[in-house]
Amino acid sequence: MNRNSFLKSLALIAASTYGAMNLSSLKSILGPLENTPKMPVLFLGHGSPMNAIEENQFVKGFRNVSAQIEIPKAVLVVSAHWETRGTQVTAMKNPKTIHDFGGFPPALYQVQYPAPGMPELAAEIKSSVHSTDIHLDDQWGLDHGAWTVIRHMYPDANIPVVQLSLDYYKTPQEHYELAKELSRLREKGILIVGSGNVVHNLRMVHWQKLNEPYGYDWAIEANDKIKADILSGNHEDLIHYSRLGKAFELAIPTPEHYLPLLYTLALQDKDEPVSLFNDEPLGGSLTMTSVKIG
Ligand code: ZN
Repeated sequence: MNRNSFLKSLALIAASTYGAMNLSSLKSILGPLENTPKMPVLFLGHGSPMNAIEENQFVKGFRNVSAQIEIPKAVLVVSAHWETRGTQVTAMKNPKTIHDFGGFPPALYQVQYPAPGMPELAAEIKSSVHSTDIHLDDQWGLDHGAWTVIRHMYPDANIPVVQLSLDYYKTPQEHYELAKELSRLREKGILIVGSGNVVHNLRMVHWQKLNEPYGYDWAIEANDKIKADILSGNHEDLIHYSRLGKAFELAIPTPEHYLPLLYTLALQDKDEPVSLFNDEPLGGSLTMTSVKIG
């Protein structure tokens, strides 16, 4: 081969590679939101950020549940750790890993979870939700409510992750209704994950028993009632939890770790199966109870 024909064939290879790249990037824009069989919906009790780097029964539970689910086209996380005025959705191509906690070992701050974002999913969410105006965000990223659990499910960080914020100003009923508007995404290959904790009272944690399966009486009482309502489909009581008395006042002193559960439950179809896993109390005032719908 002389120099000229060598250069020509190089140009041809480059052109065909470029062509293939263009085709696949075009597919990735047009393809992700095609119809798929209905995806399950999860609520994950995320607990301590240390779960990101520890090996324990809970991270096994996260891995185990992801193994039961088709590989999603993207994951949409409603995290306890992103509260905003109005509802926002992350719309950047490359969300940063946010280390939104203090006082943990350096190894935890070194963890990066470089999953891509999916701007076209953010746009789809904005156009699907009519009850409120969703703001496309380019500042947030993945907070620890998302990455500390998702990294166990998809360790290669090759599945796009998008986050939806919790609007401070919405009532539990309004959060529940908003979640229903996301239901079409389940048929687009999107795995919707609420990430919080059913019982979450950090002020009352028994720090010496943080790694023990130990719950105060009121924590067990509230968690048992919540589990019974999840399994029987009594969403009315779960939405109006603030009417349920003293145990609930202690179990849910602030709503942000509980509300992601309502997003998950709102997406349950009539008679759709629901199951629990990672169902353990920790440190007295936390429960890791997690939910799979579908
Ligand atoms: Zn948390």
